[in-house]
Amino acid sequence: MAQSDVDVVVVGAGFAGMYLLHELRKTGFSYRVLEAGDDVGGTWYWNRYPGARCDIATTDYKYTWDPELHEQWQWSEKHAAQPEILRYAQFVAKKHDLYSGIEFKTRVDGAQWNEATKRWNIHTSTGETITCQHYVMATGCLSVPKEPDINGTEKFTGNVYVTGRWPHEGVDFTGKRVAVIGTGSSGIQSIPHIAEQAKELVVFQRTPNFSMPAFNGPPPQDRVERLKADRATYEHEARYSGTGVPLEDSTVSALSVTQEEAFAMLEKAWQKGELLSLGNTFMDSAINRKANDVVAEFMRMKVRSVVKDPEVAELLSPYKHGYGTKRPCMDTGYFETFNKPHVRLVDLNTSPIRSITETGIDFGKESMEFDAIVYATGFDAMTGAIVSANITGKNGVTLKSKWEHGPLTYLGLTSVGFPNLYMITGPGSPSVLSNMMVSIEQHVDWIRDTLVHMRENGFDTIEPTPLAEEGWRVHCTDCADITIFQEANSWYMGANVPGKPRVMFPYIGGVGRYRMACEEVVNKGFLGFELAGSTKKQCNDGLVRQVQPDVDMVLDFISTLNLPAMETMSPTEARAFSEASSAMRPSGPEVGEITDGVLQGADGELQYRLYRPATPGPHPIAVYFHGGGWVFGSHTSDDPLCRDLCAQSNTLIISVNYRHAPEAPFPAAAEDGFAALKWVHANAAELGGIADQIAVAGWSAGGNVAAVTAQMSRDIGGPHLSGQLLLCPVTDGSQQHASHKENGERFILTKSLMEWFWNHYATPEQRKNPQASPLLAASLAGLPPTMLVTCQFDPLRDEGNAYARALMQAGVKVEHVEARGHIHTSITMVDMLPSGAPHRREMARALRGFFLK
Ligand code: NAP
Repeated sequence: MAQSDVDVVVVGAGFAGMYLLHELRKTGFSYRVLEAGDDVGGTWYWNRYPGARCDIATTDYKYTWDPELHEQWQWSEKHAAQPEILRYAQFVAKKHDLYSGIEFKTRVDGAQWNEATKRWNIHTSTGETITCQHYVMATGCLSVPKEPDINGTEKFTGNVYVTGRWPHEGVDFTGKRVAVIGTGSSGIQSIPHIAEQAKELVVFQRTPNFSMPAFNGPPPQDRVERLKADRATYEHEARYSGTGVPLEDSTVSALSVTQEEAFAMLEKAWQKGELLSLGNTFMDSAINRKANDVVAEFMRMKVRSVVKDPEVAELLSPYKHGYGTKRPCMDTGYFETFNKPHVRLVDLNTSPIRSITETGIDFGKESMEFDAIVYATGFDAMTGAIVSANITGKNGVTLKSKWEHGPLTYLGLTSVGFPNLYMITGPGSPSVLSNMMVSIEQHVDWIRDTLVHMRENGFDTIEPTPLAEEGWRVHCTDCADITIFQEANSWYMGANVPGKPRVMFPYIGGVGRYRMACEEVVNKGFLGFELAGSTKKQCNDGLVRQVQPDVDMVLDFISTLNLPAMETMSPTEARAFSEASSAMRPSGPEVGEITDGVLQGADGELQYRLYRPATPGPHPIAVYFHGGGWVFGSHTSDDPLCRDLCAQSNTLIISVNYRHAPEAPFPAAAEDGFAALKWVHANAAELGGIADQIAVAGWSAGGNVAAVTAQMSRDIGGPHLSGQLLLCPVTDGSQQHASHKENGERFILTKSLMEWFWNHYATPEQRKNPQASPLLAASLAGLPPTMLVTCQFDPLRDEGNAYARALMQAGVKVEHVEARGHIHTSITMVDMLPSGAPHRREMARALRGFFLK
């Protein structure tokens, strides 16, 4: 007789539930594992439609926790078919005696958290109530087929099949008239098989999908060799990779090569017949629409080369979503199937289904009779199985109501208000955007270790904090925001189920980065969790990821380069180093014209670069001062940012090469700034600008020069300024602000580099002069309207914030943007960091706004 009170209840005996069961036994927890089906295998138990195959190669789609399996189980193919994967699951279950620990044909009807006992009450379909300390949903991401949302489905009297609930005995379509609705992975895999038997097959397509041939055969030899040579390293690399398969990340932009070169690279990936290799060919196909178009066009070209009827080929070619933004498919003869005379494609966009009838389908202006209808219409993905299990947490709140507007989780593993509830591969974790085996094993390991930690340390409950959960939501959104995934009506976005909230359900920041976040949470004393026992409580509240994900990647990349600190160099070396780094940047957008010239500075001529908009002039002018700590940089060194500002704000940008320290220390830069402004004002008409529409702008030390120039202009009779645009400006030489310490390391501009800059530019005494530290000016009243941008992880953040506050207090009109998750340099990194783009748009809008009367 099974225990009715246990440590852990697990729902589901797919690969996640099976491994967890093994680990619970190993670590001595009492458990009940409940499974609705009558065998193990989860998704591979239910999805038995003809042609069902895994789209991850067998070198990677398998357990790693039992090393013996690598010798004891040999896969016959590169992409295993469903029967073989199910046999694998059964083999593992037998080998480890898992069958004895699973209760089959048992569903969970509901679960409630009991705050008094600190336990879950679980109600099963057998009428039993089980109580447990920990409740684990190992229910899979694609396990609940989508409810039918087509008119008249209930009327049809012929045979109805759903790919995700295929009859175990199989289906013989020989001589039958068959309709298939849906062209996702399930439809695309099953259609060629159904076409082989059916007398007549009509495929109803709402959205064409990207698909590539699996070229099935033996497992990929290169990876087999790597595995044989060093399995531990291979598996480690998989765990810390982007997708759970150890592929080398591309460093090539699709926009940096000709279409011919791009297609040659894609052809190579295509020939491998592996889902991830195509999407991995270019570094930017997931984040840049134009880069993605290159891959999409390659795929469409492939369709055209196979499908004989050009009209059908066009209908089968996706245009409305980017490659990879809906799960791409792997097929065997899918597009070839449409060359068969008895197969017809119906485009539901021009011929929508009016109704399913008793005998067939009414669509467009036609009615057709069928013997069988196959629904390959997908799943209520990621949340369907969890929400439908009727989970009620603290204060009677159901998970369904909490997630009404989108799933809220911490790490995709836990949720506030639901203590001791765990989700394996839940929303907010990489799950379906990864090799599921890698993600499943990671979650099971994390849950096992957490349970052991709690037992050993006398904690009864674990629950994330609202701060941590909200922080994770924001981080997940930040990750999704830099991609083009949100453009597609995919099930990743919940768009396939009417009424489902439209958010990115899986975590798109990558398997390795996600794993590191989970590890960091544990290493920092369960950061963002409250753990409680009868006699103690622990809560180390906080956020595990705050830096913008693309910025974080750049920081990680830079840290692998082991570059020397700039402050250890001489100014000459630092200048050369800075120039060499700048040469590797994307150049920024096209502008109407770029010309170089000289203007009169405070002590001789200075070079300038002029960026003219493509629109007819004259234009308003921004006199721009570059960054570089007064020591390096030039009129061309912020080229991408100046182009971007020019193009987006329709303003003439004049970037000035003011004199640099230590050769020309304070107040040279300030005096040059003011002189340049006066010269530009006097020569505005010849430059193609408007003399009474001038602003100053600058970044970093250039922001300092701009701010000082604005003050000098106010104080000593300079031209009227329409505005000042200050990006991460230096405003205070005291360097006493908290952000200098808080953000003093890791974020490119370090505390010690900033000290090095100041030491070259101004003596401690000089720094007290408002022309070095504009924050120290006696009054800020009368300064022009200001757009000031500060970045969360910039050492200069607080002095920028202080300047914004002081300006406001002085009655200046200020727009202050605090760029969350950004560092000192990130907003200037045009076409490199998508997360900076919205802030540049704001800056350009504000700059333009200065000139609107
Ligand atoms: P899916 O990708 O959601 O595809 C469902 C298809 O049905 C889509 O073409 C969809 O059109 C269409 N559809 C849905 N509702 C419809 C309606 N009311 N009228 C007309 N058409 C409708 O589902 P799936 O093919 O079952 O695949 C789901 C996921 O399971 C895959 O993306 C993959 O992750 C996984 N899977 C993997 C494999 C594998 O490993 N090889 C195999 C099968 C499934 P719209 O696109 O317009 O919504």
